[in-house]
Amino acid sequence: RFVYCGGNYVPEQDARLSIFDRGTLFGDAVYEVTAVIDGRMIDNSLHLDRLERSLAALDIPLPCPRAEIAAIQNGLITRNALMEGTVYLQISRGAADRDYRYADTLLPDFFAFTQRRAIRDTPAHRDGIAVALLPEPRWARRDIKTTMLLGQVLAKREARDAGCAEVWFVEDGMITEGASSTAFLITRDGAVVTRPNSRATLPGCTRRAVLDLCARHGLVFVERAFTPQEAADAAEAFLTSAGSLITPVVRIADTIIGDGNPGRLTRHLQRYYLDAVLGTDDR
Ligand code: PLP
Repeated sequence: RFVYCGGNYVPEQDARLSIFDRGTLFGDAVYEVTAVIDGRMIDNSLHLDRLERSLAALDIPLPCPRAEIAAIQNGLITRNALMEGTVYLQISRGAADRDYRYADTLLPDFFAFTQRRAIRDTPAHRDGIAVALLPEPRWARRDIKTTMLLGQVLAKREARDAGCAEVWFVEDGMITEGASSTAFLITRDGAVVTRPNSRATLPGCTRRAVLDLCARHGLVFVERAFTPQEAADAAEAFLTSAGSLITPVVRIADTIIGDGNPGRLTRHLQRYYLDAVLGTDDR
């Protein structure tokens, strides 16, 4: 597999990153994951918008023009003949001797790689998944997509031990979001509900795409926070992320949602999304 590192495409075993990279020492780095289907990136302009927002929030300069980042992503897809999977990119503040304070002159480290895996039509898409509920473990700026993911790593481990594929975090009695996904429910009268964007959650690109689909297909959607109880009482539930698109949720902690099968409107949304991305060219 070719990766992009140090300004070049290199075989993965030749990639080199300083041990003084601030991403390693402090989690002082941001990242993005873009889905690839049929060799094409999905919603990549939304991901690059968010990348620019994350970098601006941390006062890290863009390492190269945005069009060049997209060209590098596509360069990896081509070199690795990737038809379906993800492109990961990471930009850190750069490398310097360990010091919490940073100089404004640091040059960002930028690397990227692809991962080959099924994005659509997975068992999770067909059958739905279970999600666990755990207290929110993360810091107060979850709107920035940083590489500080230890809260998510530990929570996903705990969820897996409980037989769940994902975990939804709860703070002040409300669900914030999944460890690596946006949480949605569908009420009994058919409204699609998800939490409004704020510093409490990552503004999901797939979330944005789903809300646009709701508008286009005449589905009512409401942006408001919801409780675990509301989620348990919902007609349907699902989650979204670039790596998993729209995944039905059929159990939340101990509560079966609906009849335990993916819901009807969730199925419609899955179809609308695939139709939209297969008909779009968002490179
Ligand atoms: N929320 C968190 C915490 C995430 O890590 C992710 C994606 O990894 C999402 C939401 C979903 O965002 P997106 O749809 O842009 O992948």
